[in-house]
Amino acid sequence: MNDVPEVFDAAVIGGGPAGLAAAIALAQTGAKTALIARRAPYADNRTTALLGGSVDFLQGLDVWPRCRDSAAPLQAMRLVDDTGRLIRAPEVRFSADEIGLDEFGFNIENRLLLSALEQRASELAELTRFDDETETVVPGDADVVIRAAGGKTLSARVVAGADGRHSLCREAAGIAVKRRDLHQAALTFNVGHSRPHRNISTEFHTPQGPCVFVPLPGDRSSVVWVASPSEAERLIALGDDELSDAAERQSHSILGRLTIEPGRHLFPLAIEQLRQFAKARIALVGEAAHVIPPIGAQGLNMGLRDAADLADIVREAMAAGEDPGSPPVLKRYESARRADVLSRTFVIDIANRSLLSDLLPLQTLRAAGLHLIGSFGPLRRLAMREGLAPSWRRRAI
Ligand SMILES: Cc1cc2nc3c(=O)[nH]c(=O)nc-3n(C[C@H](O)[C@H](O)[C@H](O)COP(=O)(O)OP(=O)(O)OC[C@H]3O[C@@H](n4cnc5c(N)ncnc54)[C@H](O)[C@@H]3O)c2cc1C
Repeated sequence: MNDVPEVFDAAVIGGGPAGLAAAIALAQTGAKTALIARRAPYADNRTTALLGGSVDFLQGLDVWPRCRDSAAPLQAMRLVDDTGRLIRAPEVRFSADEIGLDEFGFNIENRLLLSALEQRASELAELTRFDDETETVVPGDADVVIRAAGGKTLSARVVAGADGRHSLCREAAGIAVKRRDLHQAALTFNVGHSRPHRNISTEFHTPQGPCVFVPLPGDRSSVVWVASPSEAERLIALGDDELSDAAERQSHSILGRLTIEPGRHLFPLAIEQLRQFAKARIALVGEAAHVIPPIGAQGLNMGLRDAADLADIVREAMAAGEDPGSPPVLKRYESARRADVLSRTFVIDIANRSLLSDLLPLQTLRAAGLHLIGSFGPLRRLAMREGLAPSWRRRAI
């Protein structure tokens, strides 16, 4: 056991995609950075649709060149009302070329993105990795003292809490979380198909939630199927052939014959909101700071913006000779992140509620809204741009 803390400018706790990106970005600012995270194989088959500036950010971290060949471009997105209700929305199609882009972004398997992030993290002289769990986080006046399960102690002036939903950092900072279970679950799996996806992602809106088929390289797609918990349990228990048939029916055979690949996972859905994103020298990043349902592919894209903003703010503070964990610096992080996170959580929540609602007026409003977006070019283009990144954002991504 070592009782003399090793001293760092910044420490990142948690080695998910948001934590690794934050660690690389902080180390690239020249801050002496510690990453406390277990090295473990990625445990599920989720993919991420990297939108807007996320790819540019990963390019700046020198991560994107290591994984771009494993990602599929997303050039168009279709929203299909599959509720079977009396009042249905017309199909809405968003095309990247309508806003002057080659693609909205790229879909990549999380395990491949993680391995590119891990590779880059291992190269940086300013980044020291501790392959361990964090046991205690104690904020003080001048620094935060962190103790790992193996006995290593270190201190940092600012901590990025990227330790996911049950965040120890959030608890140590004394930031309360408001959680709402959505009584929905997302089933994820990947499929091969007999027809090409033509880089179009298709989202079927069912009365239990969306079921989305997102392109992967080749004739493959990732599927996120949101349903009631009991329906999701039924689906995950099906045999491969039965699940292939069920997914093909749900996709209305637009991708031809589907073949399920090995590996399925179930995620109970919730919304988690915080009053504050930073306190007591701790800035929260990724799902430690916000949890939203997988609608519109926003979660990790927000997490990457957290990482980018924190690194920018720490770099500016250190260049000006400021303490990077001081209250004015944390306040800058808070105001950089608040509007983005709150507005996106609100919009995703409303989109989900309006889909699930049995109320005819709400269904009519939803159908009318989608009809307007579908038929009125300027509104559709605004929706596309806002879906990629908030328009008021001053920073690079
Ligand atoms: C079905 C589904 C589909 C999704 N699709 C998309 C999408 O297309 N686009 C998108 O942008 N987002 C998407 N998301 C959201 C995205 O997956 C999450 O936002 C993202 O994975 C969160 O990453 P993270 O690094 O914040 O958290 P995590 O991946 O949960 O990482 C947290 C890490 O911290 C570690 N940790 C926890 N406690 C400690 C401790 N005490 N010490 C050390 N380490 C610790 C954990 O082991 C873990 O490795 C989706 C989510 C779901 C459920």
